Amino acid sequence: MGEFELIRHYFAAAACARAGGDVVLGIGDDCALLAVPPGEQLAISTDSLTAGVHFPDPCDPYSLGQRALAVSTSDLAGMGATPIGFTLALTLPFVDSNWLAEFARGLDAMAAGCDMRLIGGDTTRGPLSMTLTVFGRVPVGEALLRSGAQPGDLLCVGGALGDAAGALPIVLGEREADTVEAAALLRRYWSPQPQLALGQALRGKATAALDISDGLLADCTHIATASSVSLLIEQARVPLSDSLVRFAGTEQALQCALGGGDDYLLAFTLPADALPTMQSEGWPVHVIGHVEVGEGVRLVDADGRSVGIGHPGYNHFTN
Ligand code: ADP
Ligand code: MG
Repeated sequence: MGEFELIRHYFAAAACARAGGDVVLGIGDDCALLAVPPGEQLAISTDSLTAGVHFPDPCDPYSLGQRALAVSTSDLAGMGATPIGFTLALTLPFVDSNWLAEFARGLDAMAAGCDMRLIGGDTTRGPLSMTLTVFGRVPVGEALLRSGAQPGDLLCVGGALGDAAGALPIVLGEREADTVEAAALLRRYWSPQPQLALGQALRGKATAALDISDGLLADCTHIATASSVSLLIEQARVPLSDSLVRFAGTEQALQCALGGGDDYLLAFTLPADALPTMQSEGWPVHVIGHVEVGEGVRLVDADGRSVGIGHPGYNHFTN
């Protein structure tokens, strides 16, 4: 099967490749064409995933397709953007039709859940890797940035943290996956659900936001730096899932939540008066601390004593 037949068969024919919505022209021409409504801006983000670095090789191609798109689309959630579509630059060592069919099926499933459309890409031969570029739109001036946190704001997260990091020993084959807890954690690793609706609901309310990809402490440091403030995190208020606590134990679960990565949930700062509405509307908003004058991130225990910060999150060049 040649390059063009491969693109046609597995990608152009996928349900998520149909034009529609803001996609005026999809796969097949030299460029895709997007319509951005007046008063809105394009939000664009790129993520690369390399075999052996970002996912184990071999791994289940359906899960990989889901995860690749979820990880990329989560950046749109972090900006409060509405999804439009994505490109897929795929490098394959060889053509394996079963692998491609499963990968495309996983991609399609996540695209349906995120209202994303595949609008183009590139297909080349080499060691397995992929680069996805996602496109979204956001009303002018309403994108959620990292730089607006104000002293007095609440620090919040969009759900229980650490599950994906807890699943890592299973993903890497270092631990058995024979319990319901393990299965729940693995789902969170392989098919994270970008918090797109929450991000959009936070427009005009949150003063700063991002999606947690490198670990809570590391990502909160980004907000603290960009906003020139200090973020105080109350360790006891960091939400942990029952599955993670049962699987890893309380102490290790907390370490996964603070320092592990791959959560793809939102962290944001919210003026206190915006909290009741968000909560009464049923949004998953968990207050874990607040914003203070100062710099960096401070972690405190239940008695308000500072706790040393060990592992600061994942960094490709220092870890
Ligand atoms: P060009 O040589 O002009 O860059 P290509 O031959 O690489 O175009 O691609 C032909 C069409 O197929 C383009 O519309 C491109 O966006 C699309 N395409 C290529 N690879 C992929 C892929 N992996 N997924 C989706 N679309 C793809
Ligand atoms: Mg090309």
